[in-house]
Amino acid sequence: MSSQEVDELLGHVGDATATADSEQFQVRVRRRTKSEAPTENMEDGARPLFSFGVIADIQYADIDDGYNFSCTRRRYYRHSLEQLRRATLAWRSESPRPRFVLQLGDVIDGFNKPRRASRSALDAVLRELEDAALVHHVWGNHEFYNFSREELAASALNSGREAATQDQGAALAEGGNWYHFSPEPRFRFLVLDAYDVSVIGRQERSERYSQALRLLQEHNDNEELNQPPARPGVEQRFVKFGGGFSQDQLQWLDRLLTLSDEKLEKVTVVSHLPVHPSSSDPVCLAWNYEEVLSVLHSHKCVVCFMAGHDHDGGYHRDLYGIHHLTFEGVIETPPDNDAFGSVYVYEDKMVLKGNGRVASRILQYP
Ligand SMILES: [Zn+2]
Repeated sequence: MSSQEVDELLGHVGDATATADSEQFQVRVRRRTKSEAPTENMEDGARPLFSFGVIADIQYADIDDGYNFSCTRRRYYRHSLEQLRRATLAWRSESPRPRFVLQLGDVIDGFNKPRRASRSALDAVLRELEDAALVHHVWGNHEFYNFSREELAASALNSGREAATQDQGAALAEGGNWYHFSPEPRFRFLVLDAYDVSVIGRQERSERYSQALRLLQEHNDNEELNQPPARPGVEQRFVKFGGGFSQDQLQWLDRLLTLSDEKLEKVTVVSHLPVHPSSSDPVCLAWNYEEVLSVLHSHKCVVCFMAGHDHDGGYHRDLYGIHHLTFEGVIETPPDNDAFGSVYVYEDKMVLKGNGRVASRILQYP
């Protein structure tokens, strides 16, 4: 496929620049109008089987703009709601309408907690998402800054429970917040809980908390554990705002992927934290990312891993052909720009139509 054909597949993309190599095609699009759906200009006339929306790190709070921990990135707390509104308007106007939306975590900011505004902020974002589509919510660190696990389980953010009642082949794993659903025969989505082993969101007396604290203190000498360790590279991931996956969850992941292999399904795995060092800043990686990768790589069915948390975003196609997509965060997206995507699913590929900071890409299956 030539780069011109990639452009045609995605529709007229204006100022797009395309690069291609033997393994992958990447099309970077700086700006795109919302009406340019890739379904409108397909050279082979094929319609996608279904589509879905993706958005990450909205981190809404009704407060003035601020900066990130290292004061290098501006955060548009109040305006993130407007960004979400633009995304839901775009999804509502698309044809076909997205069958669901993946909200990749950190839907409201931790600053809501001391202001006693967690509930009202959550209600505000849920109102915006209401008519867009069924939403699958991933839990990130900011969910735990605002709510306990029990509160989250009882809230609208417990989409695993919702999905299980929607007859989508969904199933909640016992004792955890990880689940799977199948929106279409031969396609499955696995939603993981990256804060399963963490010091945030776990009771101080729990085994998971002790396990997480031990791990953090082994790798991070700082008094303030939100400060990354001085060690270089991937060792920097051992921070308090990070987390990892329990052996229970990894075994569940392995079991589900074995079943999907047998059914010849295409599987997309979703988590708040990325798991590939080439798709993320090392500080944002899941603590036991290597264990997750080793499970993913032992199955043929995995086509894509989607994450948030690293607001700069990232992309890497690994040696097994799995696409690792880290979505740019809404919270650090200037008001005149956007950060969301729509994914069109075909028999042989997925096409990500990015908006604003999110690049468009063709994700050919391995
Ligand atoms: Zn996060």
